[in-house]
Amino acid sequence: MHAPPLVGFRVAPPLRFLSPTKLRTYATCPLQYRYRYVDRLEAPYTPASLVGQAIHETLEVNFRAKKHTRRDLPMFEAQEEFDRVWDRHAPGPTGAADFDDAWEDAYEGGRQALEHYLTEAAAALVPHLVEHRFRFTVPSVPWPVVGTVDLVDHNGTVIDFKTSRRPYDATYLDSDLQLMCYAIGYAAFRAGSRVRPGELPSPYFIPNVRVDVLVIGDPPSVQRLEARYDREHLREFGERAASIAAGIEAERFEAFWRAPDAVEDASVCRRCAYADRCPDALVLPDELLKADGEDGDQEE
Ligand code: SF4
Repeated sequence: MHAPPLVGFRVAPPLRFLSPTKLRTYATCPLQYRYRYVDRLEAPYTPASLVGQAIHETLEVNFRAKKHTRRDLPMFEAQEEFDRVWDRHAPGPTGAADFDDAWEDAYEGGRQALEHYLTEAAAALVPHLVEHRFRFTVPSVPWPVVGTVDLVDHNGTVIDFKTSRRPYDATYLDSDLQLMCYAIGYAAFRAGSRVRPGELPSPYFIPNVRVDVLVIGDPPSVQRLEARYDREHLREFGERAASIAAGIEAERFEAFWRAPDAVEDASVCRRCAYADRCPDALVLPDELLKADGEDGDQEE
């Protein structure tokens, strides 16, 4: 099944804000950023990205309810929520065995990973804030950063949920722009008027961060990564955000692997929603159905 080629027309209104997803997308591949935010091309779900989305939405519903009830959802309600999201976006059977099998496998794997998480890990979480909006400014960046933190627990730890077919690299949090945004966003919220306009909050206000990776497999498992960002992390974040903003302003939207000294890493394209249509993709369309998962981030 081949998608139509990408057409490079631009219809985007002027940029008003950055988001963790925009920053991460540009850092991953400027061309992917262009497709998504400048050309505004539709990005159809893959089996892996729909698993991420269905788990993300189900956990959001679970923790919103738990804030009041202090209990996780009964399993059948959580599974109904997962199915509701799945049925809204998944294609029906096509008769093409590989295609249908990939979607069926993803559905089963996602349901099992969700059940495992709710049984083994969710009980220890006491939600304080769920889907909490934030906004902060970065020196030398002309737009504010706006986004939503998945969960802040009662200890003030910022928690994000991911899904993947394999565990993340142990150093993932050291450089993840998205989690840094969440930490800074919550810090800015906590610091309030103590943050001067155009500056990042003091490291004193930066919370602990954690990502729970729901690893889809047989059996499923949960990987927990934790970090605490310091002054050096904030400085690096500020530099990277300013560099990305400069690239967006200058409309530098080349494929990531065309940058000087870049590595031609096909796994980046395997996780890209536009890989089936991108002329610069490093993978063939047939390799994409079993690609590794995205985390189902909702657009900020
Ligand atoms: S397929 Fe690869 S090169 Fe093309 S936009 Fe996606 S990540 Fe970039």
